[in-house]
Amino acid sequence: MPNGGTDNCGECYFFLGGVCLRRHTRVINQYYSYCDNFAVDAIQGPIYANGLYDNGYVRIPWNDSYEPRKVISGICHICHQTFKDGLEVNTNDKEVLQFCSNEHYLDWWKEIHKND
Ligand SMILES: [Zn+2]
Repeated sequence: MPNGGTDNCGECYFFLGGVCLRRHTRVINQYYSYCDNFAVDAIQGPIYANGLYDNGYVRIPWNDSYEPRKVISGICHICHQTFKDGLEVNTNDKEVLQFCSNEHYLDWWKEIHKND
């Protein structure tokens, strides 16, 4: 049974009708989405999703308003290896990128968001 934690968007004061009212962002998996401003009237840092299972549930940041999602197979944007059970995310350039692991997603994410 996955543990979504109690600090998820679905439990937050600022989540109503499927939308984060602070960020004006639609959140589909609200019980498995998180940010650093749970029930706090501020916007700081990204929204987080549950990433791939890796000795536990690992929280990985959204790419701005795009939630990373699990895919059953693909080719990693970082290491160019084909994989089973990885991640996929949309970008602001309307691309869809795939990653073999939480680590390679985070490597890419940190590069994209280094000026945030
Ligand atoms: Zn990779």
